[in-house]
Amino acid sequence: MKRPRYCSRFAALANGQEPLALFITCSDSRVVPSLISLADPGELFVVRNVANLVPPHVPNGERGESGDASVASAVWYALEVLQIRDVVVCGHSGCGGVKALLAPPPPSAALQRWLAPAASAVEAWRKHGPLDPSFADHDQLSQISALIQLDNLMSHEHVRARVDAGDVRLHAWWFDIPSARLLAYSKAAGRYVSIMEAEDHGEAPSRVSIVNAAE
Ligand SMILES: [Zn+2]
Repeated sequence: MKRPRYCSRFAALANGQEPLALFITCSDSRVVPSLISLADPGELFVVRNVANLVPPHVPNGERGESGDASVASAVWYALEVLQIRDVVVCGHSGCGGVKALLAPPPPSAALQRWLAPAASAVEAWRKHGPLDPSFADHDQLSQISALIQLDNLMSHEHVRARVDAGDVRLHAWWFDIPSARLLAYSKAAGRYVSIMEAEDHGEAPSRVSIVNAAE
């Protein structure tokens, strides 16, 4: 099946990609990266997994709770080969993976192992409280978890070097499914706000949203 509208776009992309952003989000079927960010084919380099996690870097030789090679290699390729300058970690409301963090351990050992690094998000939420108490507990946790994934990105040496040099910017976004609102974390506001409001705070969201805000 062909989608005629996209024929010329794919023809232009046939020889390579130059995506605007690395978009790390959940496997949840309701979170559709290109739809919620209004991105076209070729604009987002996407990593999806349960609960949109970025396992922290584990030094060579150490076997720990994470050290996931899949996410790490996608992040490396995005930044070092594709020269992407904006990285978005996008959480969402009603996340089953995040809900599992507040429930008895799931019966899957693989899922338990995968979610283990997210324990630090639960700790941060319990210690520091929610960013926005108007959301349900699991959504409050999901919002904090997306921010913690930015810290985890910084544990990867090449990411830290690029961020410190001002070459790469990290963003935490959050998609509220019932209202279909895409929010961005604002340092100035201390919580997630609309993309437009983040811009009003002088905080530039990723180039993807800048492109889309003009539409
Ligand atoms: Zn999810």
